[in-house]
Amino acid sequence: HAKGCGKNVFALFDKRMNEHASERVTLLADLRQAVELGQFVLHYQPKVDLLTGKVTSVESLVRWMHPRLGMLAPDKFIRLAEESGMIAELTAWVLRTACLQAKAWQDANLAPVRVAVNLSPFHFQRQDVKQSVCAVLEATGLDPTLLEIEITESALMQNDEYTCRVLRELREMGITISVDDFGTGYSSLSYLHRFPINTLKIDRTFILNMMKSSEDQAIVTAIIAMAKSLKMQIVAEGVESVDQLEALKDQGCHEIQGFLVSRPVNAERVARFFTDEDHLQLQNSAAQPLAE
Ligand code: C2E
Ligand code: MG
Ligand code: MG
Ligand code: MG
Repeated sequence: HAKGCGKNVFALFDKRMNEHASERVTLLADLRQAVELGQFVLHYQPKVDLLTGKVTSVESLVRWMHPRLGMLAPDKFIRLAEESGMIAELTAWVLRTACLQAKAWQDANLAPVRVAVNLSPFHFQRQDVKQSVCAVLEATGLDPTLLEIEITESALMQNDEYTCRVLRELREMGITISVDDFGTGYSSLSYLHRFPINTLKIDRTFILNMMKSSEDQAIVTAIIAMAKSLKMQIVAEGVESVDQLEALKDQGCHEIQGFLVSRPVNAERVARFFTDEDHLQLQNSAAQPLAE
């Protein structure tokens, strides 16, 4: 009996594996067409200065409007794009779209707001990042000071000679360099300063737990102190509550990003934040329904 049962479990497992594999194959076929068919959109999430309450930059976050599956978040397809090599085309599209949007905002005489683009480590290793960024800036006419690149801490630590050189070149052009998900990538603090980094973004998991875990609170404090001594700007990601905001302000954190201020929203909606208003004063609006 036990044997039969085991076999059934295996058969079920096998079936699920096949379903999973065929889902992947279908999704990959869809992905191949998605760029051509224009199925991606960018949403934007503001980063706000804790002293002035004004927007300093907006991060572009890609979504796939899948014809059958609806709106897919990046965790559903970025890895597939990376593994299949499609990430090059996707990144090219994201870069171009983000730069065109930033240029359009500038041309509309909105306060100049920097746009941040997430760069995949795969892309970083395989493509000529500098050349593709230059080409996009030239084609769109965007001032390089209005572009920011986000690269995760773990990507930074891979292949560090090459990464360091490319980042330095981008930095020399006036592009802002941010390290994403900081605190999760085991970087050696002793060589962080060798990279031309403007900003550290403290990973969301530390912000999530800082109010209930003294260890996480201590890590946040330490990251802020270190960033400041290295003359880096510091952004806390994933800020959802006023308590977190207050604690981060007390610690001397420079900027926050998170649902408390806004979820990622479309270009039109994020532009409402490009005013001189103090967007942290509005933070009773945390009580308002959050719309995607
Ligand atoms: P990330 O760059 O660290 O982006 C932050 C993620 O946290 C976003 O998820 C954002 O919607 C979410 N988030 C922001 N504030 C809050 C908050 O207060 N609470 C909670 N619970 N979540 C918050 P999203 O848009 O699903 O993106 C996930 C990841 O996918 C990004 O992490 C980034 O690594 C990657 N990604 C997004 N767009 C691109 C892209 O164009 N290219 C590449 N290579 N990766 C991208
Ligand atoms: Mg990011
Ligand atoms: Mg992040
Ligand atoms: Mg993150």
